[in-house]
Amino acid sequence: MTETSREAFAKINLFLDVTGRREDGYHDILSIMQSVSLSDTVSLELTDGKFSVTSNIPDVPCDNSNIAIRAAVKFFEFTGINAGAKIHIEKRIPMAAGLAGGSTDGAAVIMILNELTGAKLPDRDLIKIASKVGADVPFCLFGGTKITRGIGDILEACPPCPTLHVVVAIDGEGVSTPWAYGELDRIFDNFKNVHKDESDKYRSLFSALEKSDVRGVAERTYNIFESAVPSARPTVNRLKEKMLQNGALSARMSGSGPSVYGLFDRAETAQKAAEIIQADGARAFVCKTI
Ligand code: ATP
Repeated sequence: MTETSREAFAKINLFLDVTGRREDGYHDILSIMQSVSLSDTVSLELTDGKFSVTSNIPDVPCDNSNIAIRAAVKFFEFTGINAGAKIHIEKRIPMAAGLAGGSTDGAAVIMILNELTGAKLPDRDLIKIASKVGADVPFCLFGGTKITRGIGDILEACPPCPTLHVVVAIDGEGVSTPWAYGELDRIFDNFKNVHKDESDKYRSLFSALEKSDVRGVAERTYNIFESAVPSARPTVNRLKEKMLQNGALSARMSGSGPSVYGLFDRAETAQKAAEIIQADGARAFVCKTI
């Protein structure tokens, strides 16, 4: 059978706020998500009915808990197609880092299967399948710059981010997203009676995007998780400082962390900053907004 491969791109959050907590315990978010060129490569071959996954990285779960397999199972359930998938993930995106590494693999599987099986489902059905797999999966189907609401399952068009050079860095262990939400709940009293709308911060970032104002975008990024995660992961603030000392226009934590992204207007500056961060013992990747 033929094997098909696809790049699965990481995301950063240019903006991330929690606007309330729902009765089912999930958090409503308002986010502006941005794809970056740092990617995994997902390869898939259809099988008679068996599911398997392998990876170049031993930490990637190679059982049915892998998001890529869960995505394939949901795709076949939705379409009623009787088949399985043999998947290989060449992983470069740091794991449990707030970069949607697993979600983007799941989204790539859905896109590959939509082509390979000839199902050719419309976008709205792909989003339905993706939202059953995980909160960031719908965004990862299409990528680019998007506003996301709800638990991340409501996608809206957004003025595209002007091209920025990005250094994504991570030092030390990953963070579990449920733990990070738990910390936010503690700090914000479970978001009781919080029904936030679009904040001034959000509106000013949106307007910088509308104007393609590189500095304006960089200066107006926001992440509510920075009120919770850096106290438990001091590496976050150290990496942010390192980015700023080495020419970043701004530096921010991505998602529930602990990865930090620095935004740069020049590729050479980004490259140098990444080398300095690597020399300090952290992992750093140079990429750009796409
Ligand atoms: P998000 O930003 O969507 O919250 P994340 O980037 O913080 O996600 P992931 O890299 O997706 O986190 O990993 C979270 C956990 O999911 C990992 O610790 C791992 O056990 C599990 N996982 C399952 N499938 C995958 C996959 N294909 N790639 C990475 N992690 C996976």
